[in-house]
Amino acid sequence: MTIIQDLGTYKVNHLWIKREDLIPFSFGGNKARKAQLFFQEKDKGDYDCVVTYGSGSSNHCRIVANECCRRGIKCYIISPEEASESTFNSQMMELFRAEITTVPVNEVHNTIEGKLAELKEAGFHPYFIEGGGHGNIGTEAYVQCYQEIKQQEKELGVHFDYIFLASGTGTTHAGLVCGQILNGDDRKIIGISIARKNPRGRNVVLDSIRTYLGNKAIEEEIQEKTIFIDDYTTGYGKDDSRVKQTIDMVLRIYGIPLDATYTGKAFMGMSEYIKDIQDKNILFIHTGGTPLFFDELRSR
Ligand SMILES: *Cc1c(COP(=O)(O)O)cnc(C)c1O
Repeated sequence: MTIIQDLGTYKVNHLWIKREDLIPFSFGGNKARKAQLFFQEKDKGDYDCVVTYGSGSSNHCRIVANECCRRGIKCYIISPEEASESTFNSQMMELFRAEITTVPVNEVHNTIEGKLAELKEAGFHPYFIEGGGHGNIGTEAYVQCYQEIKQQEKELGVHFDYIFLASGTGTTHAGLVCGQILNGDDRKIIGISIARKNPRGRNVVLDSIRTYLGNKAIEEEIQEKTIFIDDYTTGYGKDDSRVKQTIDMVLRIYGIPLDATYTGKAFMGMSEYIKDIQDKNILFIHTGGTPLFFDELRSR
C-alpha cells in the first residue's frame, strides 16, 4: 500500500497526496502497479518472453524491461521513431537489455504483429502487454488502488471529496471510476488529460470502464462519473512555463518531484480547477514518472 501524505492547507482546501511514485520497484508509479498484475498473469502461464510498445520516454517500457530483466527473460519493445529521443527511461531500458525496434509510428502495429509471429515461429511463447499497461488488467490495478484509498480514508478519518490524477491512456482513471461505481461512492474523480482532447480522450476512458464493468455497467452512471478535463493539455511532453512553475513550487515547498509530461500538468490543472472550490478534502494521486523529472531538470 502506498502512503497518503497530508500536505495541509492548499488554496483554502485540504490537500493530500497518494505517493504511487514510491511503489518500491523500478522508481514506482502507476505503471509499476499495473505491471505487478500483468507479470502475475505472465508468471502463471508458460510464457518465455514479453513484447510491448512505447516511446523512448515511456515509464511503462522501463518497468516492463526491468521486470523481464530480473526474471532473466527477453523483453522486446517496439518504439515509434518520432519519439525515440534518449532519456533516463530509454537508458535504463538498454541497461535492462531490452531489444528495442524503432519504426515510424504508422508501422508500430504491424511491427508488433510481425514480432509476435516471428517469435512464435521460432518456438517462443511471447506475452504481450499493451502500451501503457492498457486493458482490463491495468484497469483492475486501479480498482485495487481505489480499495486502498477507501481503507486509508477510514484509517485517516477523512473523506476525499475530490480525487485528481493525470489521465493518459486512461486505465488509471477508468480503474478509479470503476472502484467508485462498484462501491456506490459519492465524490468527484477528475482526470486531467495530459495529451488527448475531448471527446476522444474521454471516450477511451469510457470504453475501458464499460469493458471492465461488463453487464454491471449502467451507461447513465458511467457518463456522470467520468470527468475528463482537457483544458491543460499541451501535448505529450511539450513545454509549458506554467507546468515548470508548478514543478518548481511543489519541489520547493513539499520536496516532491513532478514531471513535465504527466504529474506536473495534472497538479497545475488541479490548482486551476480548485480555485473556485472551498473547504474540501482533495486527494492528488502522484502517478510517478520520477526519471522524467530528471529529464526535465537536465534540459534546463
Ligand atoms: C502513464 C502515466 C500516466 C497516465 O496513466 P494512464 O493509465 O495511461 O492514463 C500518468 N502519470 C505517469 C507518471 C505515467 O507514467
